[in-house]
Amino acid sequence: MPRENHPDGFLKHRRAPIGKRPPAVRVRDVDEVWAPDWDDEHLRTQAERCVDCGVPTCMSGCPIGNIIPNWNDLVYRSDWKQALEELHATNNFPEFTGYTCPAPCEDTCVLAANDDAVAIKSIERAIVDRGWEEGWITPQPPTRRTDYHVAVVGSGPAGLAAAQQLNRAGHRVTVFERDETPGGLMQYGIPDFKFAKHRVEQRIQQLRDEGIRFATNTDVGTDVTLDDLQRGFDATCLAIGAQHHRDLTLPGRDLDGIRFAMDYLPEENRRQAGQRVRGVTAEGKNVVVLGGGDTGADCVATAHRQGARQVVQISINPRPPEDRPSDNPWPAQPQTYRKTYAQEEGGEEAFSINTQAFLDTDGDGRVDALQAEHVDWTYDRTGRRVDKTVVESDVRIPADLVLIAIGFAGPEPQLPEAFGVDRAPDGTIQTNDAMMTSVDGLFAAGDATRGASLVVWAIGEGRDVARQIDRYLTGRSDLPASVRTSNPAFDARA
Ligand SMILES: Cc1cc2nc3c(=O)[nH]c(=O)nc-3n(C[C@H](O)[C@H](O)[C@H](O)COP(=O)(O)OP(=O)(O)OC[C@H]3O[C@@H](n4cnc5c(N)ncnc54)[C@H](O)[C@@H]3O)c2cc1C
Ligand code: SF4
Repeated sequence: MPRENHPDGFLKHRRAPIGKRPPAVRVRDVDEVWAPDWDDEHLRTQAERCVDCGVPTCMSGCPIGNIIPNWNDLVYRSDWKQALEELHATNNFPEFTGYTCPAPCEDTCVLAANDDAVAIKSIERAIVDRGWEEGWITPQPPTRRTDYHVAVVGSGPAGLAAAQQLNRAGHRVTVFERDETPGGLMQYGIPDFKFAKHRVEQRIQQLRDEGIRFATNTDVGTDVTLDDLQRGFDATCLAIGAQHHRDLTLPGRDLDGIRFAMDYLPEENRRQAGQRVRGVTAEGKNVVVLGGGDTGADCVATAHRQGARQVVQISINPRPPEDRPSDNPWPAQPQTYRKTYAQEEGGEEAFSINTQAFLDTDGDGRVDALQAEHVDWTYDRTGRRVDKTVVESDVRIPADLVLIAIGFAGPEPQLPEAFGVDRAPDGTIQTNDAMMTSVDGLFAAGDATRGASLVVWAIGEGRDVARQIDRYLTGRSDLPASVRTSNPAFDARA
């Protein structure tokens, strides 16, 4: 059915995405921050704001090329079931993105050039929530099986998307996961109050019901060797993420009370799952979060929920401007300041802070404060910091708990080293245009090859690597291409 043109929808209705619960309320519990209720009519009017602009720039903003105008129109017509089908055509797990995606599509929406963008992410989320509520999302086992066996190592969004696509092509898929429960960072990393874990579990159940096997508590490289995989499987996909922490080797780094974000956050996920966890919490503490990014924001929000006395989030870079600079026009991603959900709930943000040392003022072996300087940076043309002017020296920030969230340096090295795969200088696993590593039959996708990125990219890479593995095994593939479709070399070398 052709799409209906609704050119004046954006004049009739203001942008009103699904909101969040009030900060003062939500910070007192661990339920999802999102407002639980929305009604169909509200979402219909939001979908009506889509002007069907002819050249849907939103689709080029979406890394997996979701066919956004189609499902906007279907929601406008109240055909939610068909909208769900359109959504699943490009995205295996729309609730993963509908809840966590930073929605680059909205920045590139034509309306965003001089008005408020269509609330695309809210519409995506509403469609998939409706799908689960109505029981429309059911297992889709393949109608025929091949004799090929494929191993997927890692069960984050990349591994799960690869597994589901390969299984739908009829191959027999086993997912190996080091953790006790599958899901990767969707399960252990992203806080429960940002993405409730029953949403991962219902997808895992769908995958199990489609015939995918999960081998959890299995550390590949240690419990399973490359030789085991090569003897037991016709191809393997490494989707092991990029969780190798960056560290700060400063004086006092070995003091107690200084922790990596990715030790601290999964511990809280496990606590919420009812497991006994021994690690320290932020209760009653002065917390300093080092790192101004999203992982840092999740630490801030977690520390508040644990009852921290004070939380300061430190960024080495200056505060971004409120308005788009002239050299950053639409449809480029805006490089502007956006208050995070965590900062809405409280805490302090400090910018242009260069940390110099961790201090133990009372000599008990525990960190008490951070010593830093407030600086003005000079950058080169590539955006690299090259010089600084000290604005204020000897800045001291009280800290009983320091959480390091300054990014990741590619995948943890053990498995790539054990398997002898080539890596790029930034530590990521190198692959050719067919997404194969330097070892024949061993493919890789997701953060393991891109470096720490986004859920939406991981899903797209998982879809693409499945297509490449299918072609490697059978010489052709009917699986759809995804994020790398714009690369003409992509299909050439499979
Ligand atoms: C705290 C935090 C919050 C984030 N929030 C967001 C967000 O809001 N929105 C967003 O879009 N992105 C977010 N991201 C990024 C996003 O989670 C990742 O880009 C995405 O999960 C990458 O998917 P992946 O499948 O490549 O890897 P991962 O999700 O990291 O999964 C890799 C899996 O491989 C397993 N594994 C590793 N080594 C082995 C081994 N040797 N044997 C067996 N299993 C192994 C790991 O245990 C893990 O389960 C966040 C990241 C972090 C750290
Ligand atoms: S996956 Fe992300 S970028 Fe794509 S449509 Fe959904 S919110 Fe937008």
